[in-house]
Amino acid sequence: MSSEPLTTRRMGVGRGLAFVVTGPSGAGKSSVINRVMEQLPNLAFSVSYTTRPRRKGETDGVDYIYISHEKFTSLIDSSEFIEYTTYLEDRYGTSRSQVERVMMSKKDVILDIEINGARSLRQAGLGKCTIVYIFIAPSTLDRLGERLRARGTESDTAIAARLRIAEQALADLDKFDYLVINDDLDTAVDELRAIIAAERTRIRSANH
Ligand code: 5GP
Repeated sequence: MSSEPLTTRRMGVGRGLAFVVTGPSGAGKSSVINRVMEQLPNLAFSVSYTTRPRRKGETDGVDYIYISHEKFTSLIDSSEFIEYTTYLEDRYGTSRSQVERVMMSKKDVILDIEINGARSLRQAGLGKCTIVYIFIAPSTLDRLGERLRARGTESDTAIAARLRIAEQALADLDKFDYLVINDDLDTAVDELRAIIAAERTRIRSANH
C-alpha cells in the first residue's frame, strides 16, 4: 500500500459536493438544515437572494439576502445567478459568487431551493461539483397544511397556493436521490446527517 492516506480516495469534504435540499414550503427544511449544520463541520449554506419581504425571526445575510425587484433584474443581467425562479409573487436565486467562494474554501455546500431550481441545476450542473438531490417533506399534505397554518406567516390564499405547488412537486420525486420524511425533527436531522456522511465516504461519484 502506498503512503498516501486512503481518505484521499473518498469523495470527502471539500471535493466538490453540493447538497440540494428541495421540498414544499413548510416542510421544515430550514430547521433540519440548521440543526445539521450545527452538528456537521465543513458545510456552508448557500444564502439565496430573494425579493420576498423578511419574515419575523429572519436575518438579512443569514436566511436570505433581501433585495428589490430592480436589483434582482440587475443581478440576472450580470449572470450572478446559478439558477433563479419566480415563486408565487417573488423571485429567488442562487448566488454564483457565494457558491464559488464555498468551493474555494474546501467546504461542501448546502442549497435550499424549490423544484424548478432543482430542475435547472439538473440540466446545467454545477461545474465540477457532484450534486446530491434530497427531497424533504412531511408524510402527508394534510400535515403540511397544518404546519403552514401553525407557522402563521402566510394568508389562507398563500397557504392554498403553497399546497398546490407542493402537490405538483411530488411528480418529480423519483428524480431525487433521497427522501427525508420530516414528521419528527430529530429523525429528519439524523437522516440528513447520515446522507451527508455517506456521500462524503463514497468512492465513486453517483453521477457517473
Ligand atoms: P420561502 O418564501 O418559504 O422562504 O421560500 C419559498 C421557496 O423558495 C422554498 O421552497 C425555498 O426552498 C425556495 N427557494 C429559496 N431560495 C431559493 C433559490 O435561490 N432558488 C430557488 N429556485 N428556490 C429557492
